[in-house]
Amino acid sequence: MATIFTKIAQGEIPSYKCAENDEFYAFLDINPLVKGHTLVIPRREVDYIFDMEDDEIGRYQIFAKKVARAIKAAFPCIKVGEAVLGLEVNHAHIHLVPMQSEKDLNFANAKLKLEPAEMQEIADKIYAEFQKL
Ligand code: AMP
Repeated sequence: MATIFTKIAQGEIPSYKCAENDEFYAFLDINPLVKGHTLVIPRREVDYIFDMEDDEIGRYQIFAKKVARAIKAAFPCIKVGEAVLGLEVNHAHIHLVPMQSEKDLNFANAKLKLEPAEMQEIADKIYAEFQKL
C-alpha cells in the first residue's frame, strides 16, 4: 500500500507544495514548529533515509540544499536546520526548519496552528524563491 507521502507526491492527497523535480518533492509540514517548516521527500517509496544508495542520497541532499536556500530567502533566519526523525511516517523525509535559535528545532515544542490561507502563502513564498535558484 502506498504511503501517505507517496500519495502527496503523486497529488492524490493535497499538500502545500514548496518545490519539486522529477525525483524529489518538498511541501509544508502540516504541524509546523515555525513558519516555513518544510518536508523534503523522495518520490520513490523508501522508508529509511540511510537505506538509500550514495548517489541517490547525494541528489536528495543537493535538492534539500536548494529548498533550504529558498526557505532562508523567504523567511530570514540565522540558519535552516535539518533533521531526520521518521518515527511517525515510514517514508523518508528531511525536516527543514528556519531557526532563530536552537529552541526552534525542538520537536517536543507545541506546533503552530495556521489557517489554510496562511499555509498557502508560506508555500507560495518558498516556491517563488525556489524558482529563482
Ligand atoms: P516523523 O515521521 O517523526 O518525522 O513525523 C512526521 C511529520 O510529518 C510530522 O512533523 C507531521 O506533522 C508531518 N505530517 C504528517 N502527515 C502530514 C501531511 N499530510 N502533510 C504534511 N505533513 C504531514
